[in-house]
Amino acid sequence: MFDIAIIGAGPAGASAALFAAKAGKKTVVIDSGKGMTKRARLENLYGIQEVSGPDLVDIGIQQFKKFGAAYIKDVVNNAQKNDAGFTITTEKNGVIEAKHLILATGLGLDLAEKLGVEMKAGTEPRIKTVLVADAEGKTNIDGVWAAGTCAGVSVHAVITAGDGAKVAINVISEMNGERYVDHDILQPK
Ligand SMILES: Cc1cc2nc3c(=O)[nH]c(=O)nc-3n(C[C@H](O)[C@H](O)[C@H](O)COP(=O)(O)OP(=O)(O)OC[C@H]3O[C@@H](n4cnc5c(N)ncnc54)[C@H](O)[C@@H]3O)c2cc1C
Repeated sequence: MFDIAIIGAGPAGASAALFAAKAGKKTVVIDSGKGMTKRARLENLYGIQEVSGPDLVDIGIQQFKKFGAAYIKDVVNNAQKNDAGFTITTEKNGVIEAKHLILATGLGLDLAEKLGVEMKAGTEPRIKTVLVADAEGKTNIDGVWAAGTCAGVSVHAVITAGDGAKVAINVISEMNGERYVDHDILQPK
């Protein structure tokens, strides 16, 4: 049983996974590798001069794997809520169990629809429909959270990544029963 399953390894999902894994939560990321970020070339990502979308996605995956999150390249076909959390059905890797589910599926809303997550009209250019999530990232289904493009935030990597981090911090804080921060301190030379 994983603490947190994240569907999607674009900026939103990978950033959520980085925080979750670094916080010591047993984390799995399942991603079909078909995100919009792979078509981008970014020059407006704070702290980075320029990066190609495919490189950004690869670096994100390496970052969360470094802290122990599992990465599965697969399609999630379905997810069902049960008493302990969620049963997640993948195309090639069978069934995965997790207590919390973060949807970071970009433009893909099929899984959210199967789970019964409420939706609404999107406000961003070319984003017709998004999931209804509160300020913390919670959807109408207890234990299902939404982050990034699918949650309706501005479609820019710095924002979707920040939103993924925000949602993960909220999940971690709820699991820990107190607010969580992840601050590494620079040691004097
Ligand atoms: C052509 C183009 C150029 C862009 N240029 C810029 C730019 O210059 N600067 C900028 O800031 N932003 C740019 N963007 C936008 C930027 O890429 C997005 O804001 C951001 O990366 C989206 O992040 P995300 O994590 O929400 O979604 P995505 O990166 O789309 O990731 C979603 C992931 O979820 C996976 N997924 C979905 N459903 C399932 C499922 N059922 N099972 C398993 N996996 C699933 C997908 O395969 C995908 O990997 C550009 C976008 C495009 C299309």
